[in-house]
Amino acid sequence: MKKCQQCGTEVLHQEQHQDAKSKASLEILHCHHCGLIQQAHIPTEDELKIYYSHHYRTDYKSVYQPKIKYVRRAGLAALDRVHFLEKHLGKIHGQQLIDIGAGGGEFVYMAHSHGFAARGIEPNQGYSEFARQVYDMRIDTATIDALEAQSADVITMFHVLEHMPKPDAVMRKVFESLKPGGYFFVEVPNILQQDASPHNIYFKAHLYYFSEYSLRAIAEPYFEVQALESHGNLKMLFKKREIVKNFAAPSPATIELQKKALSQKGWLSYLTVGGGWKKPLRRVSQYRAEAQIKDMSPKVLLDQLRCAKP
Ligand SMILES: [Zn+2]
Repeated sequence: MKKCQQCGTEVLHQEQHQDAKSKASLEILHCHHCGLIQQAHIPTEDELKIYYSHHYRTDYKSVYQPKIKYVRRAGLAALDRVHFLEKHLGKIHGQQLIDIGAGGGEFVYMAHSHGFAARGIEPNQGYSEFARQVYDMRIDTATIDALEAQSADVITMFHVLEHMPKPDAVMRKVFESLKPGGYFFVEVPNILQQDASPHNIYFKAHLYYFSEYSLRAIAEPYFEVQALESHGNLKMLFKKREIVKNFAAPSPATIELQKKALSQKGWLSYLTVGGGWKKPLRRVSQYRAEAQIKDMSPKVLLDQLRCAKP
C-alpha cells in the first residue's frame, strides 16, 4: 500500500492517466486526508538531480538556449509576476530576491529592472549560462541546497514545486533561507483550473498536482497566506512565520469541496466555463506578435515588454 508523501495516510484513491507528452501511463494517487494529489512513483533526489542538470529542458523544448518566442512568453509571465509582487508587497526597491529554478533568467532580469536586488539559481547548465551572458545577472548553476540561511527578503519559485520530490522539505528550506518577515511567492499549475485542456494536465515530470487547499496545508506550518490568485495557474504569496507550527490537513468539508471541483472538470467545462473555445483566436494574435520579434535580442525584447506595459 502506497503512503501519502505529505501526511503518511495509507488509504489512497488511485487513478490511471496518460503523460501529456509521451502518452505513457501514469499512476496518480489522491490522499483523502490532506487532499494532496501525487504520482505513485516519486523518484529519488539523486535521480532528479541528474535529470534536471542535463536532460530536462532539452527533452521538453528541444533546444539548450531558448528561442526568442519562448523568451517573449517567459517575459510576459515575468512581468505579470513582478506586478503581483508590487501590488502585494508595497516596498520592493533594494529588496533581496532569489528566484529558484530561474530558467533562462527572464524573471530575474525583469525583477531587477523594477528595483529588486535580484538573483537566481538554476540547475540546468545551458540555461544558467545563457542567463548570465545575456542579462549579466547573477544566476548560479545550483539547486535549492545552495541557499544560505536568512539570505533573502523574497524567494520566488515558478513552476518548480510540482517537480520536487519532497514539497515539505522545500518549504522548510525556503523558511530557513528567508530573513525574518520574508515572503515566499509560489506559482504552480492549478489542478482545479477549469480552462486547462484535459489533454494537458498530467506530466511525468510533475510529481504533485496542487490545489489552493493542498498547497495552503503544506505551506501553513512555515508561512501565513498573504495573497492568492487561482484563476488559471495557482499563485500564492506567503509570509514567513516566527515559529514553525505542526502540519494540519484541510477540514473534511474542504476535501469534499476539492473532490466536487475535480469531478466537474472535463471537456465540457474546458470549452464552456473555461472559455477553451477562445484559445485558437488568442493563439493567432500570439503567433503574429512572435513573427515580428525574430531578430531581436532577448534583453531588448524584455526591456520593450516592460516599457509597453508599465
Ligand atoms: Zn495526505
